[in-house]
Amino acid sequence: PDTAPLLRVHNLTAGYGPAQALFGVSLDVPARSAVAVLGPNGAGKSTLARALSGLIPTTGGSVEFAGRTITGASATAIRRAGLVHLPEGRGIFPGLTVQENLRLALSVDKIDPAEAFDRAFGFFPALAERRKQTAGTLSGGEQQMLSLSRALMVNPRLVIADEMSLGLAPMLVDAVFDGLRAALDAGVAVIMIEQFAAKAIAFADHCLILQRGAVAWSGSSARAGGELLHRYLGAA
Ligand code: ATP
Repeated sequence: PDTAPLLRVHNLTAGYGPAQALFGVSLDVPARSAVAVLGPNGAGKSTLARALSGLIPTTGGSVEFAGRTITGASATAIRRAGLVHLPEGRGIFPGLTVQENLRLALSVDKIDPAEAFDRAFGFFPALAERRKQTAGTLSGGEQQMLSLSRALMVNPRLVIADEMSLGLAPMLVDAVFDGLRAALDAGVAVIMIEQFAAKAIAFADHCLILQRGAVAWSGSSARAGGELLHRYLGAA
């Protein structure tokens, strides 16, 4: 049986010009599993997401995805391979309709738009009713669903969700987690970058804590208890 993880990150380094921000990060993500990436501000969580999705170049280490090496591949190639990154912030065009936002997100994908729309609206039926509505007039929660559906409509194998719950009211935070749970149930692996550590640990199978660009702790979520959170995140 094929027991290789969907994503295998080995000793990854990356940064911004001369400023190194990731120092040898290793991480395995099994297919259909969820990994929570936690850590204080500036720990390198978003940088890890950007490096994995090809938005910034890596300077060392290797990344294997779905049995292929994607180290150094372009963002477009990585997306087409099935690794889709939802960057921090919703990235929605408020003046465009729901449908137009979805279509725009498909620009680099070799995929039938009708099929992609069906998949997006299958995850979030409420969006189908609002397909002609301008995205800027959606509620914050609906905008997050739009953002997530843009990732899911290309049938990815792994979604990296960077702080999707940032700035949302508690009820909407739950809606974001429900959306990601639906993705997971549909067989999509999830890397979740989160401020709400306890919620993220409850959601995820595995947990990775970054500190100053390196892995401070990693293990199963069942072992990521309160003491650990106090030590690394200063919170329970
Ligand atoms: P946060 O929770 O604040 O988003 P983070 O864990 O996602 O934090 P990163 O944003 O990945 O952390 O930042 C890691 C390091 O890289 C920090 O030292 C940060 O200052 C630096 N950094 C992040 N983005 C850039 C950039 N565009 N240019 C230069 N340095 C950056």
